[in-house]
Amino acid sequence: MALDRAARLAAAAERDGPTCIWCGRELTGPVAPTTEHVVPRVKGGPSWLENEVAACRRCNAARGHTAPVEWLEECTRRGWCPDEARLGRVLAGLAAAIAERGGQRRARPYLDAQLRRLRRRGPAAAGA
Ligand SMILES: [Zn+2]
Repeated sequence: MALDRAARLAAAAERDGPTCIWCGRELTGPVAPTTEHVVPRVKGGPSWLENEVAACRRCNAARGHTAPVEWLEECTRRGWCPDEARLGRVLAGLAAAIAERGGQRRARPYLDAQLRRLRRRGPAAAGA
């Protein structure tokens, strides 16, 4: 079932909580909520809820097409509070969705590399 953008944002906030994955700010009032693709579309990431997270407009724009784990590390350097556990859960959930539905030949190796990089950061990050 295809959800429109507003419905996907609501679903992502319901799944993960109403905060930005990258800076932790609550997505209300002046902090404009957006959804973004964890695996960027230019890397073959599908427009599935499993590949989308809620982020504030600032973080979404600042990240651009940067890989998610690389961007997580950049957020930490900037003194923000990225939600590493959420990123691990979403990446693992996307891998499971791709395994179930098939396809996504471009996204798979990119996603696998991101999962490996996240695991190297420590057991708390692996979404287990
Ligand atoms: Zn943010």
